[in-house]
Amino acid sequence: MKKRIVVQKYGGSSVKDADRIKAVAQRICSYKNSNTDIAVVVSAMADTTDDLIDLAGKIAQSPTDREMDLLLASGEQISSALLAMAVREYGVESVALTGFQAGFVTDQVHGKARVQQIDGKRIKQAFKEGKVVIVAGFQGMTKEGEITTLGRGGSDLSAVALAKAINADVCEIYTDVTGIYTTDPRKVPEAQKLKEITFDEMLEMASLGAQVMQPRSIEVAKRFNIPLHVRSSYSKEEGTMIVKSTQKIEDIAVRGVTSNKNEAKITICAVPDKPGVSAQIFNAIAKAGVNVDVIVQNVSHTKKTDISFTVPKADVVKGLKASQDIARKLDAGDVLEDRNIARVSIVGSGMRSHHGIAAKMFDALAKASINIKMIATSEISISCIIDLDKADQAVSVLHKAFELEKR
Ligand code: ASP
Ligand code: MG
Repeated sequence: MKKRIVVQKYGGSSVKDADRIKAVAQRICSYKNSNTDIAVVVSAMADTTDDLIDLAGKIAQSPTDREMDLLLASGEQISSALLAMAVREYGVESVALTGFQAGFVTDQVHGKARVQQIDGKRIKQAFKEGKVVIVAGFQGMTKEGEITTLGRGGSDLSAVALAKAINADVCEIYTDVTGIYTTDPRKVPEAQKLKEITFDEMLEMASLGAQVMQPRSIEVAKRFNIPLHVRSSYSKEEGTMIVKSTQKIEDIAVRGVTSNKNEAKITICAVPDKPGVSAQIFNAIAKAGVNVDVIVQNVSHTKKTDISFTVPKADVVKGLKASQDIARKLDAGDVLEDRNIARVSIVGSGMRSHHGIAAKMFDALAKASINIKMIATSEISISCIIDLDKADQAVSVLHKAFELEKR
């Protein structure tokens, strides 16, 4: 009989101290039996990665990417070694492997390397010997033998990629919340846990502000159709399944509401309205290494027009400088900035087949006297840029308008 293969990923908060590591080890052992092989991917303990970044910052202003990766990868080595020891204490054979030892080969881009290939040989051998394998997440190695990391939150990606490589039956993502909710339950008590959500919806929710999983890992899960089970490491409660499509997909227009307070708005005033101007502006901003998101350009009645766009708050200084330079070159007007904005979004695959969703969203915001500054849509989401101090209110107003408390 073919054995069941399970990949479990435990996040940093799930292994934050010795007691938690023991609790997770017990849990792993409770799932291990002669018909089940388990590969565990683990994050660094609690805030280890942030602490290491801070430490490096105290020593060098711009540390080399190579040494940063060497440093950060150590966090996951600590947690994986400790977890393997704990599992053995509960009587189950276990082996801890670094990303490299587990066969993760990546490209050379330090800090956000891509997984190119995973050689599952060593893991399969360990399975044959009846061992639970504990893999250090977030890391790999280039063909040249350099240690790399996969970007913040990268242990999710390690888990999903590993699930694909060893043909796992299920990939469980253990975290400190019990699943994916209609919105952040810490802010809206009426938020409901979702039984299921699609990859597309989860991707959209994650990139629009929900912070449960790393977006890249969801992309990979979607590409290879690897169902994910997001659940809590603190309880046995069933969590949320992230799957290709759900039964009720057609009946539910809106699955969730998110907010993102990490963007700022830049406006270039009185831009000459002629062909090629937008291209010049956004080329200049791209060259400065700034990602632009929502863009609004008004119709011009005077041969001049205002162009507004949002950028990550962290990049606003760079974005402003590039905008001022190009505004001068184009003989445009002032450059304005607004850091007091937030994006609220509604997400749902069912939007494709429902109408009136946007109107309902705008209506709900209007009734709460919340002014909309910009609007952006995708096939399965609608976002409004509003005042920062109205963000939390907007989320609960939208949650109510779409009756998400009844899910
Ligand atoms: N420890 C890494 C981070 O904090 C990777 C992870 O937790 O997934 O980003
Ligand atoms: Mg983490």
